[in-house]
Amino acid sequence: MTFIQCRGLTREYRKGDNLIKPLDGLDLDVPRGDLLALMGPSGSGKTTLLNLIAGIDSPTAGTLTIDGVDIGELSRRKLAAWRSAHVGYVFQLYNLVPVLTAYENVELPLLLHKLPRRQRHARVAQALERVGIADRADHFPRQLSGGQEQRVAIARAIVTDPDIIVADEPTGDLDKASAHAVMLLLQSLNSELGKTIIMVTHDPHTTDYAKRTLHLDKGRLAEAGTLQTETDHDRPTEQAQTSPRAARPLEGARP
Ligand code: ADP
Ligand code: MG
Repeated sequence: MTFIQCRGLTREYRKGDNLIKPLDGLDLDVPRGDLLALMGPSGSGKTTLLNLIAGIDSPTAGTLTIDGVDIGELSRRKLAAWRSAHVGYVFQLYNLVPVLTAYENVELPLLLHKLPRRQRHARVAQALERVGIADRADHFPRQLSGGQEQRVAIARAIVTDPDIIVADEPTGDLDKASAHAVMLLLQSLNSELGKTIIMVTHDPHTTDYAKRTLHLDKGRLAEAGTLQTETDHDRPTEQAQTSPRAARPLEGARP
């Protein structure tokens, strides 16, 4: 069985008399160590899919199996524990807590784990070091640039050493140089630490960093060749669904 396996994955919401299906019977396999870019028009179910994989939300039909665990079968409590052990989430707008320093923001997810203070400190320091922002540990989010805030958010996502990182338009609010640095960082977490990464992106350039790119349309994977171009910012035709692409070399990546 593939590391992450979706079969007929469905998420419905009822809005008044209407039934909305952001995900409508999606089949997807993600091998361990993948660096997958997801593209697709607004409302095609990208965030809904990430939320399911991250254990923030539960499917209403179909199955989602991650490393042999049927996520839809977990109780809320077990799902929360599973999430905190296995997944780091990176958001477009960073979602840092404004009244906490960079250090304290990164420390936050570790407070759910029973770790002695010394070890917690070592983990936070290591994560901040990894994203190249150790010298800003005492800064508050408002004292950081967008690119620096996103690095802190990535440190927060990796501090628990999750095997999966999901990122929802992680470079959507960044200038080109900061976006490049964030993508190199995610790429290094994939190639050096073996993290399985699934990221949603609108930027055709960010797919250059991914191992493969898949397209969502109306809550399912779009078949290659049937992609809609007018709502999508991507170059659809040459994006075969499964063509693996070598990750860019890492020269220029941060140490
Ligand atoms: P994308 O990220 O591709 O833009 P989403 O997964 O966020 O798309 O949403 C797909 C659709 O599902 C949207 O029409 C959205 O309004 C709807 N949706 C998402 N979450 C909820 C919710 N909690 N309640 C009701 N509708 C929702
Ligand atoms: Mg979205």
